[in-house]
Amino acid sequence: MTGIRDIIAKAGSTRLDIDDLAQLLSKEAAQHIELMAATAARLTRQRFGHTMRLFIPLYLSNLCANDCTYCGFSMSNAIKRTTLSMDDLHKECQALKQQGFDSVLLVAGEHERKVGMPYFRQAFAVVSQYFSHIALEVQPLAKDDYAELRGYGLAAVYVYQETYQRSAYDKHHLRGNKTDMQWRLQTPDRVAAAGVDKIGLGVLLGLADWREDALDCARHLRYLQQHYWRSRYSMAFPRLRPCAGGINSEHLVDDKTLVQLICAFRLFEPDLELTLSTREPAMLRDHLMPLGITHMSAGSKTQPGGYADDTIALEQFATSDPRSAKQVCKALLTYGFEPIWKDWQREFA
Ligand code: SF4
Repeated sequence: MTGIRDIIAKAGSTRLDIDDLAQLLSKEAAQHIELMAATAARLTRQRFGHTMRLFIPLYLSNLCANDCTYCGFSMSNAIKRTTLSMDDLHKECQALKQQGFDSVLLVAGEHERKVGMPYFRQAFAVVSQYFSHIALEVQPLAKDDYAELRGYGLAAVYVYQETYQRSAYDKHHLRGNKTDMQWRLQTPDRVAAAGVDKIGLGVLLGLADWREDALDCARHLRYLQQHYWRSRYSMAFPRLRPCAGGINSEHLVDDKTLVQLICAFRLFEPDLELTLSTREPAMLRDHLMPLGITHMSAGSKTQPGGYADDTIALEQFATSDPRSAKQVCKALLTYGFEPIWKDWQREFA
């Protein structure tokens, strides 16, 4: 069997396979974390330079027809529900533009009837007036819907599987369309078939054994790369955060393990976009910046309408990095990174 140091040494020049990744995620590999981190940092600078792409989530609605044990938007939670009107949406877009953002991630709970295609058509007509790069993180849609939204400017779809372990998936998804694990699992195929440029994969760390989920996510990525080689891919490893009605978990992932996971994926896929959200605390985000992360959100609010009016309290989960976008930029510059606000122009895609 190839040793862990050999695997680290060949990363970047030889494509690592799933067995190599399993070794990089092992307990033994944790003893080589400094070498992994140095190699991950080198490969990231080689491929992406000293840059960090910035994006912002824009919450459209907290309506949801699902019950997920870990989420404040779950239908069984008695929180005030709201969906942005198109006037509200203009205000949110204007507030974000003033901060400098040009890349937006539209997020909503999963409520097909009230926040489905008719709503998305209207929302894209508004949002495309303000932003060059529009990504979507909502309920899984049909291929034709993705193709239609692509025509309105949809550039990326993020659809995290949450967990690939059947028993954990069933345990944490209690009611609604999200209980259909296969429909969710096949969503990236439909996104790719619709010709959307980028697909975001990921798992919610804390629902099941993190090693099994990370390896299954890597297998999913390699399957998609083989079948849809024109698509671009990104990956994120959000960790469970406190929320209204949230669960306690025996699978929580500590900071050191998160570092190992991010470094292992950078070695596994040197060109893969790796995203880090404000779920993570400021100090950890600053330490992770050089190690493999290429895309960050900053100044995020997880409640609909929260940018134009930050007194609203309807959040999906508590964020951990409360810094404004300006403050995150300052930190990036301090660490020698150039913040990138815009790297996409639809007409050139
Ligand atoms: S995770 Fe998504 S689908 Fe589940 S309750 Fe929250 S918003 Fe709804």
